[in-house]
Amino acid sequence: MLNLPANVVAVPVRPYAGDMDRCARCGERGRPYDHLGVRRWRHLDIGCTRLLLEHAPRRVDCAEHGVTVAMGPWAKRKSAYTRDFERQTAWLSVHAPRSAVSALMRVDRKSVGPICERVADELRAEQGAGLFDGLRSIGVDETGYRKGHTYMTVVVDHDRGRVIWMHQGRGQKVFDLFFQALTPARRESIRVAAGDGARWIDEYVFRWCPMAERILDGFHIVSWATDALDKVRTTAWREARKTGTAGKGAKDPVKGARRALPKNGPDLTATQRAQLECVANTNETLWEACKLKERLRMILRQTADEAAPMPRQWAADASLSGIEEFSKLGEKIDRRRFDILRTIRSGLSNARLEAVNNRIKTTIKIGYGYRNLGNRIALVMLKCGGLNLRLPGRQ
Ligand SMILES: [Zn+2]
Repeated sequence: MLNLPANVVAVPVRPYAGDMDRCARCGERGRPYDHLGVRRWRHLDIGCTRLLLEHAPRRVDCAEHGVTVAMGPWAKRKSAYTRDFERQTAWLSVHAPRSAVSALMRVDRKSVGPICERVADELRAEQGAGLFDGLRSIGVDETGYRKGHTYMTVVVDHDRGRVIWMHQGRGQKVFDLFFQALTPARRESIRVAAGDGARWIDEYVFRWCPMAERILDGFHIVSWATDALDKVRTTAWREARKTGTAGKGAKDPVKGARRALPKNGPDLTATQRAQLECVANTNETLWEACKLKERLRMILRQTADEAAPMPRQWAADASLSGIEEFSKLGEKIDRRRFDILRTIRSGLSNARLEAVNNRIKTTIKIGYGYRNLGNRIALVMLKCGGLNLRLPGRQ
């Protein structure tokens, strides 16, 4: 026995006979080779006492992998923590910031990310190719982070509302990698591919899954309007400053409503509603733009029949509004009205999709603390990837 600090307990363990002498890589039984010294794995605490599991593993000669350390069923290969410890840390990571995880689990901050990555890999392996099974409608999104200098491509399974694939970078080459990860049968099962308005997506979808219908994501259509609205707001703010009519800081109606303007009507807080009312009373152009945005969003909530004439009407009203940004958007909506109606028919315009998209964005934000991109991707997969992440010992 080695000396241990007062608040640490080490318990000797060994695998059951059936689990002895198994290769840590493949789990097949190997020929006993030699003994290694005592190793320790950090397990879940007992009260305030740290618990270590202690075992002197054997090395085995595996027919396939040669001489390797025999598997300890309580831990993953090359990890200094037990499986239970890692699961609990990963579970906590998707609910709390890294500093809290590190403090509660008493692990170094830098170890939290790699633990998440190991658990995500393990859960994914447990599910096998299941993540790509029965794919019917996918959504592709490019998310910028670090102030838009770096991008991540995210592919979502729209039917199950979960992230199935993520990769650093964006554009055709990255999208290629996703399709290469699918078997031909899986590619053929895809019937609908949704994304933003980029033309190259049309091309790629056609090349890789010719059976799929390419449509626009509902929230991308709405984001065109929120982007236009934001430009109108910036212009209004700049003009107010130039003419000296701007209020101080958040007291100015235009500046104060920065967060309220792009929000969906029903999601507004009481304060934000008051801020919008203030805009309605003071800035006609901005208020008009805000109403147009809400109307476009509502079109996407209609049934296909009800919605049929609406994009044209909306486009006409937007042109008549005299707001430059919205006149331009009116032309775009008119041009893409059939795409929009197809989106409504496909059902990929609903609020649930928007919720999934928001969940992904928030998780990516939580993951800012994790410098390593692999760690951050693991975090998103753990939270939004439909992986079976449970606390150890719970059903
Ligand atoms: Zn092996």
